[in-house]
Amino acid sequence: MPAKCKFCDRPAFIKLHYPRMYLCEEHFKEYFERKVRRTMERYKMLKPDERVLVAVSGGKDSAVAAYILKKLGYKVECLHINLGIGDYSEKGERYARRQCEKIGAPLHVVRVKELLGHGIGEVKTRRPTCSYCGLTKRYIFNKFAYDNGFDAVATGHNLDDEASFIFNNIMNWNTQYLAKQGPVTPAGFNGKLVKKVKPLYEVTEREVVAYALASGIEYEIEECPYARGATTLEWKEILNQMEEKRPGTKINFVKGYLRKRHLFEAELKEAELRECKVCGMPASGEVCSFCRFWGLKEPIDFRVKRQ
Ligand code: SF4
Ligand code: ZN
Ligand code: ZN
Repeated sequence: MPAKCKFCDRPAFIKLHYPRMYLCEEHFKEYFERKVRRTMERYKMLKPDERVLVAVSGGKDSAVAAYILKKLGYKVECLHINLGIGDYSEKGERYARRQCEKIGAPLHVVRVKELLGHGIGEVKTRRPTCSYCGLTKRYIFNKFAYDNGFDAVATGHNLDDEASFIFNNIMNWNTQYLAKQGPVTPAGFNGKLVKKVKPLYEVTEREVVAYALASGIEYEIEECPYARGATTLEWKEILNQMEEKRPGTKINFVKGYLRKRHLFEAELKEAELRECKVCGMPASGEVCSFCRFWGLKEPIDFRVKRQ
């Protein structure tokens, strides 16, 4: 006989491992939304009147984050950064557009190739592609939010992302990175570093996939061509094997880390920040890493003209 939902007579849509229970589609959605709302309250992520910008890539996590923030009543707008990685980026943009229509949130699009002359992967540099891609995305996301007066930016990082990030950095003893990771990064540098929040911090990747399916959110499944061989995928696999054997491994690992995070603070060598000579945003040297990498002479103004 097919399994039934724990709370009603409908057939089970998902079997959760931790807590162990079967849920129908409706009760799973309720469970997921309650869990995200509680995470947001626990870490005091957003005040009700704060404007939040969500970076939607076209993938499942950011789309679910934007969808649920909107459903919980927050003032949401979305930003898609088209990285200029051939077909992969074009598809990503199409998905982001469809997702924002469904969510009912305004979408802003920034195209790296039009803005900076080259797409990600097209720059002749010794720097690894993911490294300058990461710095480019982080800068644009933050500066766009700052230029347009957003109170916070939200990303789609889920429990699996966080657990594998911490695991990886412990295995490599990158203690510097372990001092600052968490569900909320407060605003800094006179507001030029916009507050960063992760509403999906306590839900697993499997739950995010199921929620996207239950809510009719379509997303890009294809991986970025530069992601192949990324070690984070291997850490995720190991953690998934542990989770199978011992349900609750990931959440207990991440919560334990948050309790012990202060132990890494002594390792934090925070470079003193100053204003970038070109764009005025925080920099550890004279010019910030974004302006230096892209050879900018003028700042980029991301302000959106509003009617
Ligand atoms: Fe950028 Fe692709 Fe690397 Fe992700 S995997 S950081 S999208 S280049
Ligand atoms: Zn039910
Ligand atoms: Zn700069």
